[in-house]
Amino acid sequence: MTRPLFARRRPHTHTRPLFLCRACGAKWPCQPARLVLLHMYRDDRQGLRLHLARTMLTALADQPDSDALTLAVHFLGWLPRKN
Ligand SMILES: [Zn+2]
Repeated sequence: MTRPLFARRRPHTHTRPLFLCRACGAKWPCQPARLVLLHMYRDDRQGLRLHLARTMLTALADQPDSDALTLAVHFLGWLPRKN
């Protein structure tokens, strides 16, 4: 039996402590991860903001020398402003 195409792809989740995408190697959340997150949280944008904020705090704890504002812009700055 063949698995569906999406099941064979690596998910665009992050590694630690560098928070790079396991699938594409870009800084997480990469573009595909952002699309998945927008879909997963399509009815709960506040929940998405909280999830990203928590993940950003974990990234900041893992990378204490990184710039907090740069991390905040990367993790949260791409979110749509409405709803
Ligand atoms: Zn990716």
